[in-house]
Amino acid sequence: MISVQGVSKQFGDYVALDDVSLEIRDGSLTALLGPSGSGKSTLLRIIGGLETPDSGRIVIHGDDATNVPPQKREIGFVFQHYAAFKHMTVRDNVAFGLTIRRQPKEKVAERVDELLKIVGLAGYQKRYPSQLSGGQRQRMALARALAVEPRVLLLDEPFGALDAKVRTELREWLRRLHDEVHVTTLLVTHDQEEAMSIADDIAVMDNARIEQVGHPRELYDNPSNPFVMGFLGEVS
Ligand code: ATP
Ligand code: MG
Repeated sequence: MISVQGVSKQFGDYVALDDVSLEIRDGSLTALLGPSGSGKSTLLRIIGGLETPDSGRIVIHGDDATNVPPQKREIGFVFQHYAAFKHMTVRDNVAFGLTIRRQPKEKVAERVDELLKIVGLAGYQKRYPSQLSGGQRQRMALARALAVEPRVLLLDEPFGALDAKVRTELREWLRRLHDEVHVTTLLVTHDQEEAMSIADDIAVMDNARIEQVGHPRELYDNPSNPFVMGFLGEVS
């Protein structure tokens, strides 16, 4: 479980997170859903250790991680605009985290094969990122994030830059991937439909606070306040 306990964060006078608490179940795919500027990325970055909270704690699987640097949190990240190593093949990009950990070559090759199969890029090992479509590139990014077997996967609008059709495909595909790999995943999105269609749990954020957490259906049927009702009501 990831436990966010009373986390606050200000940028100057601006309150980005106001006493936020949230529990993310082990093995769940949880969506952090809210409008632009509500604080989603800030919360994700604090969970990942890319940003420090002014107060509060982050506990990952029972360990206080608040002061643990990101590389020691065993977390995989994927962002909207993924920065792949352009001069490296798909294979080398996915293998990167394993190679720098000095894993044996055969083991790396085996793991990369397995991951590329899972993300549907088995035949693309020798391509370069520039020779992939946007959707394929994000799938490569997911394979790369998963390579080191993270305990937690943090996805910040990973499909945000893609067109609607590809986004729908990738969202279904992420759900299948998650059913296979079961890594605790936090998906930041402002897309109600995306959250409603694939998340096990949804945390709705507005204005630096978490408004409600629950199963998609529960939130839709019993919104706890007008904001949640209005926001989820925008599902087309
Ligand atoms: P979006 O959907 O547009 O990505 P978000 O919910 O991810 O929005 P955040 O990026 O968490 O929102 O930002 C929350 C608020 O904090 C915004 O008003 C933003 O301008 C502000 N903010 C975020 N990072 C910084 C920073 N490094 N310095 C100053 N203000 C920041
Ligand atoms: Mg954001």
